[in-house]
Amino acid sequence: MALQIYISGKFYDKENAKISVYDHGLLYGDGVFEGMRSYSGKVFRMKEHIDRLYESANAICLSIPMSKADMEAAVYETLTKNGLIDAYIRLVVTRGAGSLGLDPNQTSDPQIIIIADSIKLYPAEFYDKGLKIVTASTIRNHPAAFSPRVKSLNYLNNIMAKIEGLRAGCIEAVMLNHKGEVAECTGDNIFIVKHGVLMTPPKDAGILEGITRNAILDLAKSHGITAFEQTMTRHDLYVADECFLTGSAAEVIPVVDIDGRTISGGKVGPITEKLIAAFKELVRK
Ligand code: PMP
Repeated sequence: MALQIYISGKFYDKENAKISVYDHGLLYGDGVFEGMRSYSGKVFRMKEHIDRLYESANAICLSIPMSKADMEAAVYETLTKNGLIDAYIRLVVTRGAGSLGLDPNQTSDPQIIIIADSIKLYPAEFYDKGLKIVTASTIRNHPAAFSPRVKSLNYLNNIMAKIEGLRAGCIEAVMLNHKGEVAECTGDNIFIVKHGVLMTPPKDAGILEGITRNAILDLAKSHGITAFEQTMTRHDLYVADECFLTGSAAEVIPVVDIDGRTISGGKVGPITEKLIAAFKELVRK
């Protein structure tokens, strides 16, 4: 059976799952989304993802025509319909079809799309050997232009940095904010370890507040690892003892090289290893 895609209350075969070319999600990137995972049939931190989706929608003045409880039920229905237990779930809410102008008041009918599928963001070898990343010259969106805390359908800021990374032979890239501080990677949050202490840039560094990031901060605490949010520069990355990235699709992935500087002796560090194991245990619980 073809993959079943949920669009605004109905299921469609993948090849027939379509929305209007007049949808402002397509015309202007006007909409919001979430990416989450289910493990053994249970969606990891579902409430946090749904809350972030509604918060993102609220930030762009988009009213989602469905309650949070119904949204959660629709996600599980999509998993069941496709017989999936371990899956990546993409939730998209568009502004809806309108006229060929920016005005959101000229749109009607926001579309709710749920895709449950698999995702392989990074090849398996990098989870063992660690990633090589570079700093992109494209800075993260200025928070006063558009807040990086909104997970919107306009990802060109991140895509431009991703292209820079790919052209430098790296599949992920670090983005700095307008002050030159480390913000995050193009689709992942970043952590470093220095002298046994775990650190990640604060929310006001111009980042998406990752749900995996928050899970790692909680895990560090419950495993006796001192962890806090810390403003950092590239210097802190270069002299870090360990580095790793987090995201729903990526999960936890080690980094062993930043801008040609070897981190952690080119091997996955002990605290990173400990947290990868703790995260695996957490999601399987
Ligand atoms: N930053 C950005 C820019 C992202 O797109 C994502 C999600 N892919 C993350 C961080 C990680 O967030 P989460 O752990 O909630 O998936």
